[in-house]
Amino acid sequence: MLVGGVGGARFLLGVRAAYPDSPITAVVNVGDDIWLHGLRICPDLDTCMYTLGGGIDTERGWGHAGETWSVRDELAAYGADPDWFGLGDKDTATHLVRSRMLRAGYPLSDVTAALCHRWQPGVTLLPVTDDRVETHVVVDDPATGEKARKAIHFQEWWIRHKGELPARRFASIGADEATILPAARDAIAGADVVLIAPSNPVVSIGSLLDVPGAREALRATGAKVVGLSPIVDGRPLRGMADRCLSAIGVDTTAAAVGRHYGARSTGGILDGWLVHSGDPAEIPGVEVRSVPLLMTDVEATAQMARDAVGLAGV
Ligand code: GDP
Ligand code: CA
Repeated sequence: MLVGGVGGARFLLGVRAAYPDSPITAVVNVGDDIWLHGLRICPDLDTCMYTLGGGIDTERGWGHAGETWSVRDELAAYGADPDWFGLGDKDTATHLVRSRMLRAGYPLSDVTAALCHRWQPGVTLLPVTDDRVETHVVVDDPATGEKARKAIHFQEWWIRHKGELPARRFASIGADEATILPAARDAIAGADVVLIAPSNPVVSIGSLLDVPGAREALRATGAKVVGLSPIVDGRPLRGMADRCLSAIGVDTTAAAVGRHYGARSTGGILDGWLVHSGDPAEIPGVEVRSVPLLMTDVEATAQMARDAVGLAGV
């Protein structure tokens, strides 16, 4: 599976429930990752790890259940920049372990495996790359209003500015020098079926596909590739996919996102595309099926997983 954060993690819960005896590998977006206060923070990997490990705050959808915020408050008392990122106390322990291991020379994939030793997510979580590739958002200069003059980290755009600065485009900084994690490439090559989670098509799946080798792996695999639409009835279910899509000139509809991904037979990434019941979609070269796509509980999500695998004909 290719996954981002909250949407990806919830879908993974359903896939794990539907196929408890099958090995599942999740190739996770790292575009949200950031160094803050000397700590390496990997929001999508952590959301998947905590969700599958039973430690997520289910209300918020991210971070630890029962989180406390003393570290954040103490940093604020020092006036330590940046002050807009909510570092939870429990979360900070994860970042401390990760940062220490990275500084000791371990690659992110090994660090993730070590963290997962505690959380036992029941699936293999792989960062799409061990290299540093971070999503930036090109915005207008806030001082002069000059168009598309400045690039800020995705986290700064999303958390500090609440996604309200118009995004002109997205850039994966570091992608030129990066390569897909070999284990991720092998997992895609050897899969029975590849599922693209209903994650943000731009800053989760799009950022992941910017890593050199990722698109090639999807094109080369003998497995069928089936995606699930994160857009239901013309709206993202949570988050800012609509703002991201409009920045890249794609309508916020299941059909437009499916066409944006495109058919594998014409250089895209999809063989099949699941849309929510009632959402029209016709995509040349892609088999489209409509089924309920609301992840209201694990059983409903498990049925989405079965439908996706069924569409692949596995
Ligand atoms: P993030 O990294 O935390 O933003 O999470 P993802 O990128 O993995 O997922 C965000 C996407 O999940 C959003 O675009 C939502 O529209 C989508 N999403 C959330 N809940 C649902 C759901 O119940 N059904 C579907 N189809 N999509 C969902
Ligand atoms: Ca994310």
